[in-house]
Amino acid sequence: MNINGTTKTICLLGHPVKHSFSPNIHNYLFEKYDKNSVYVCFDIKERNLKNSIDGIKALGILGCNVTIPHKVEVIKYLDEIDVNAKLIGAVNTIKNEGGILKGYNTDGMGFVKSILDKGNDLTNKKIMIIGAGGACRSIAVELASNDVSSIEIRNRSEEKAKEIANIIKNNFTTETSCSTEKIDKKALENIDILINTTPIGMESDLCPIDESLNPQNKILVCDIVYKPHNTSLIKWAKKHNLEVVHGVNMLINQGLHAFNIWTDIKPKDEDIENIKDIYKKINNITFD
Ligand code: NAP
Repeated sequence: MNINGTTKTICLLGHPVKHSFSPNIHNYLFEKYDKNSVYVCFDIKERNLKNSIDGIKALGILGCNVTIPHKVEVIKYLDEIDVNAKLIGAVNTIKNEGGILKGYNTDGMGFVKSILDKGNDLTNKKIMIIGAGGACRSIAVELASNDVSSIEIRNRSEEKAKEIANIIKNNFTTETSCSTEKIDKKALENIDILINTTPIGMESDLCPIDESLNPQNKILVCDIVYKPHNTSLIKWAKKHNLEVVHGVNMLINQGLHAFNIWTDIKPKDEDIENIKDIYKKINNITFD
């Protein structure tokens, strides 16, 4: 990387940011596609968010990612919001177009891409999502935009699940429902794709479903938790010979979409593999 007088900056605004993988994704891509840009992280407390956004304009920063805890709050400081980001109610990517800041949400896009990359089709598929937080919101909106047949949200509490179901009902033709009931054999029989969006399984061997369930149909099982790589849900699915999508694919693909928004360059499939290699090296892990 040759930083000089014309190098442009793209950054992450969040708190904390020190464990972020985004600099690795984007600095790899800037180098690969010969962009004279650099990606850096800024640890921004809530009280400094507005000044930071003003700073993006003042300093001519080309764009940024936004992460916890600013994804919702940042919306009020932006000039334009992409239609899906508006429905989701959160922004994770901002593009500075000559002083006009436009907000996007690439989390759901990254998730959908990680399913499509494995050769799956989403049209008319029946989906069950476990959890009803921010990640579920972006994934549900993006799945509905991709013509799935139905989305059922299972969450331990009702309110947030209902809120997301209503967003989908009011804006898409997708059949939508929610429930606080535990997932049983019958519930699995009715779906094509199962997605965990709770933190259950993160840095632990807990599983978001009853591991004694024995699925009889071919379900695609996705866990957006990426640490550990093989969560208990993924292990359960593999034990039953079900196809899986790991959380690291969403993590990388949401970054590739952000890169595309900033640069208009569409990263190649080989970039995902190269970035996965960087991820493995940094985390000192191996996986296929
Ligand atoms: P969030 O907004 O806090 O939502 C978490 C959801 O999980 C809530 O609906 C919550 O239920 C439910 N939940 C939490 N703990 C639970 C438990 N012990 N038992 C049952 N349900 C529980 O979080 P988020 O931003 O959506 O993120 C969720 C997970 O996804 C995190 O682990 C995060 O690291 C991961 N993630 C991964 C990616 C990726 O790129 N792979 C991207 C985003 C997030 P209540 O509604 O009842 O509180």
